[in-house]
Amino acid sequence: MSAPHPAHEPGFDLEALREKYRVERDRRIRPDGSRQYRRTTGEFGYFEEDPYADRDFSREPLHDRVEVLIIGGGFGGLLAGTRLRQAGVRSIRVIEKGGDFGGTWYWNRYPGIHCDIESYIYMPLLEEVDYVPRWKYAPGEEIRQHARAIATRFGLYDDVCFQTLATELRWDEAESGWLIATDRGDHMRARYASTRPTGCGVPTASPSDPTGGCTSPSSWPAGSAPWIRPPETST
Ligand SMILES: Cc1cc2nc3c(=O)[nH]c(=O)nc-3n(C[C@H](O)[C@H](O)[C@H](O)COP(=O)(O)OP(=O)(O)OC[C@H]3O[C@@H](n4cnc5c(N)ncnc54)[C@H](O)[C@@H]3O)c2cc1C
Repeated sequence: MSAPHPAHEPGFDLEALREKYRVERDRRIRPDGSRQYRRTTGEFGYFEEDPYADRDFSREPLHDRVEVLIIGGGFGGLLAGTRLRQAGVRSIRVIEKGGDFGGTWYWNRYPGIHCDIESYIYMPLLEEVDYVPRWKYAPGEEIRQHARAIATRFGLYDDVCFQTLATELRWDEAESGWLIATDRGDHMRARYASTRPTGCGVPTASPSDPTGGCTSPSSWPAGSAPWIRPPETST
């Protein structure tokens, strides 16, 4: 039996491990960064269309004030909203480009989509929503429904602006607050602003397929894949 390592030593060559990960990381970094991707404009403009949203939706522009404004209704925005609610903040507005909460899991609905981190770890606020994941690696639809349950549980639907793209976020020194403009003509004010628009779900056309033979990750009809049906028992 080998002698135990002192508590402060990992028992392996930490520097060699760091170097290994550095090499792997460097292999994936391209000098052109996000410029390697095509913009979703022109011939790829259809990637920006939201097949789940109400195309006829309209509303009057808002010119009001909220305490906290959150841009993005994915898990980042949901967690921010939840923690603020738990801290007692009442006036919270989420602005979300899509037609519902979920972010990544709203936009991406292709067959076979699951999280690749165990559901118990990946899905936030399970205890708060009183939900037990049915799959070890939950399918996208289960995760999307969980996002909706979080928003319902914490009243984040109350003042939400879906199908609304925040186009400007500017600090107003004189008013000590944020000015938010959107593509729906809104000019809102907020004491605090939280930006969570990671955009993993925002489709980006691949440069490797210049012919346009690519498909939006949101363009599969709900329930089109048999694996969406949860198993009878947890895995
Ligand atoms: C297929 C897939 C599988 C994944 N699996 C895992 C996993 O197993 N484990 C893991 O840790 N991560 C996973 N991820 C990463 C996943 O994206 C994150 O875990 C998480 O969901 C990101 O949440 P978010 O709120 O930061 O961003 P998003 O989910 O991208 O939400 C951001 C939201 O902001 C909105 N938005 C952006 N700009 C604006 C604007 N200007 N105005 C209004 N709204 C705007 C977008 O429409 C979007 O809904 C996966 C991602 C994908 C695509």
